Amino acid sequence: MIIVSEELGITVKREDDFSKWYLEVVRKGDFIDQRSPVKGFDVILPWGYAVWEMIQSKFDSLIKEKGVKNAYFPLVIPERLLKKEEEHLRGFRAETMMITEAGGEKLEEKLAVRPTSETIMYYMFSLWIRSYKDLPFKINQWCNVVRHDTKITRPFLRGREFLWQEGHTAHSTREDAEEWISTVVGMYKKIYDDLATEPLVLVRPKSDTFAGADFSVVFDTIVQDRKVSQGPGTHMLGQHFSRPFGIQYLDEKGKKQHVWQTSWGLSTRQLGILIAHHGDDQGAVLPPAVAPYQAVIVPIVFKGKEKQVMDECRKTEEKLKELGVRVYTDDRGYTAGFKFNEWELRGVPLRIEIGPKDIENKEITCVKRTDGKKVKISTKEPGRVSVMLEEIQKELHEKSRKMLRDNMHDAKDFVELKNVCDRGVTRTNWCGSEKCERNIKAETGGAEIRGTLYGRGEKTFADCVYCGDPARHVVYIAKAY
Ligand SMILES: [Zn+2]
Repeated sequence: MIIVSEELGITVKREDDFSKWYLEVVRKGDFIDQRSPVKGFDVILPWGYAVWEMIQSKFDSLIKEKGVKNAYFPLVIPERLLKKEEEHLRGFRAETMMITEAGGEKLEEKLAVRPTSETIMYYMFSLWIRSYKDLPFKINQWCNVVRHDTKITRPFLRGREFLWQEGHTAHSTREDAEEWISTVVGMYKKIYDDLATEPLVLVRPKSDTFAGADFSVVFDTIVQDRKVSQGPGTHMLGQHFSRPFGIQYLDEKGKKQHVWQTSWGLSTRQLGILIAHHGDDQGAVLPPAVAPYQAVIVPIVFKGKEKQVMDECRKTEEKLKELGVRVYTDDRGYTAGFKFNEWELRGVPLRIEIGPKDIENKEITCVKRTDGKKVKISTKEPGRVSVMLEEIQKELHEKSRKMLRDNMHDAKDFVELKNVCDRGVTRTNWCGSEKCERNIKAETGGAEIRGTLYGRGEKTFADCVYCGDPARHVVYIAKAY
C-alpha cells in the first residue's frame, strides 16, 4: 500500500512557506498526487484514501444508528431539474460542468455533472413520499461531485472533484427539520473529536448560505497559517425545494402538505484540514482515532539476529492486534532510518522499535510522533500501548483547543479589526448589513464574516465594527481557504 516518494523528508518549514510545506506533506506523505493530467482533478493516494475510509466508516455507523439509509443516485442531472430552484441554479451555474455531446451527437438536453445532488434526489423524493407515515425520510449517498471552481486549486482544500457524503432528509414540520440539524451537528462534532480538532460551529450570514437554503450551519477550522477552512456543513432547506419539486405528503387529517428538508455533507477536504491543522515540520500528524495504522513496528536488524528480531516483532504485532490496536510490521528491505522518516511523514502516532537489546531487556521502545519522546514498555504490559494512544489523542485535542483560543481576538472597532485580522479569527460586532460585510472584506484584504455561533446567542459588546450603527450580532471574521 505504499508509494515511495522520490525524495524523502520535508524541505521547508511551516513558518517559512506554509503553502509549500503543505504541498510537500500531502504528496510525500502519500496523501494526494496533483500531477494528474487534468488540473484540479487529483489522485488520492493509498494512505490518504485509507484515512478517508477511517472517517467514512466512523460517520457511516453514526448515521445508520440514527436511521439514515444509504442509496446511490445518478451522476448526471438534466439541466431542467437544476433550473427548478432558481437560487440553487444561480449558486451553482458558474461551477457546473455540462455535457453537451454524447456518442458524437449533440444532446437535446444538456446534462450537468452533479455539483451536489439536491435536484436529482428531490425529483425522486416526489415520487416516493406519500404520507406523514413516510416521514421523516432520511437518505445519504457516498459519492463524488464536480465543481469547476475557477480559483487556484489546492489539493484536498480546493479541488474540482471531491468525494463526500451528502445526506438529505424530509420532515413533516419545520421544528422536526431543525431538530435534525442539531442531530447532524452532534454527529459532526463526534467526528471532530476523532479528528482531535476544535471547530467553530457557525451559522453563516445570508450572503454565504447554501444556494437555496434558509440557513447553513458550518464547521470552520483554523489551520496553522491562521486562515480557516470550511469543514462539514448542514443546510436548512425549508420548503425551497419541496414546492418546485412537488414533494408532498398527506397529513393526519388527509390534507396535502409540502415537506421540510435538510441536507448535510462532509468531504475529502477534511483530509487537507487535518494535515494543515495538526502537521509539523516532519510531516503529517494523525490522531490515533483516524490513523489507518496507529502503530508501526520497525525491526532493528543486526547481522545474525534477523530471525530473532522478526519473530519478536510478529509476536508483538499479534498481541497488539488482540488489544484492538491497528498495527503494521514494516519488514521491507529499507533501512530503519528510511522507515522512520517515511512513517513520520505519514503521521503514524506511534513507532515501535524492536532490536536485540530490547529483546534482551524484555521490552519494546515506543516513540511518539507528537513529540519524539521514547518510552520503554515491558513486553508483559502491551496494554500500555493503548493507553499511550489515548493520551496522544487527548494531547492533540488539547493542543487544538489551545490553537483556537490563542488565535481568537476581540475587536471593538475597525482599527482593531485591521490590526488582528491576519492573526486568526476575530470576534466582533456587526449591524447585519451586507454593505458593511462587503466593505469589511474589501478593506481587510479578504477577511470575511464567517457567521454567528450556532446554538448560543452572544451579547454584542460594541457597535458595528464597520459603520458604527448599533450592532445586531456578534460575528466571527477570518480569512479563509
Ligand atoms: Zn454596519
